[in-house]
Amino acid sequence: MEIAQKNRLRQAVRRALFGLLPSWALTERVENADRAVFLTFDDGPHPEHTPKLLDELARYGAKATFFAVGGRIAEHPEIARRIVAEGHTLGHHSYHHTDPSHTTAAQLAEEIEKTLALAKEHGLGVLRFFRPPHGKLTAGKLGRLMRSRQSTVLWNVDTKDYSCDHEWEIIAWLERNPLRPGDIALMHDNHAVAPRAIGAVLEQLQSSGLEAKALTIDHL
Ligand SMILES: [Zn+2]
Repeated sequence: MEIAQKNRLRQAVRRALFGLLPSWALTERVENADRAVFLTFDDGPHPEHTPKLLDELARYGAKATFFAVGGRIAEHPEIARRIVAEGHTLGHHSYHHTDPSHTTAAQLAEEIEKTLALAKEHGLGVLRFFRPPHGKLTAGKLGRLMRSRQSTVLWNVDTKDYSCDHEWEIIAWLERNPLRPGDIALMHDNHAVAPRAIGAVLEQLQSSGLEAKALTIDHL
């Protein structure tokens, strides 16, 4: 099959899947978000970048969602506790962040159990939101997640912050591609760029009358 045909088929399967499943199970954009946008940060907590990001979010009174890697929560539980204490939503992003093509549904389920137990142990509450590494899922993995009452959250805006060397690149990209209400934007808190860009990004949002909010179950 040609690559273009394969891509069209994948898109069709994806659209059908999103249409069939309840929105709590799988979402990539929030409907009826009013003026809210949802900034999401993957791959932390990072000892330097995540606290900087939290300082900036606090300065602007903005909230976000963090998809933390279990193994990194184990290394920096105090940062995960700060995320929760400051009113952001803590989601999870597997325990090891292994390439999803090397992870079976059973292995993923094990990693999720391990992360949920760790969160409980550190007083981080019951985590409800999951983002698969690289956003890749199979039907088998999604089924397991649904059985564990986990909401899988993808994104509809990829800022590609991880490939930027300077914050102005992401600020300029968002000026050309402004966020709209309900958008779920992918960023990362294990890189220096997001904490440096976030102030300007939040100012852009405020000047457009938009508000950065943390994802809650009511949004799905
Ligand atoms: Zn990731």
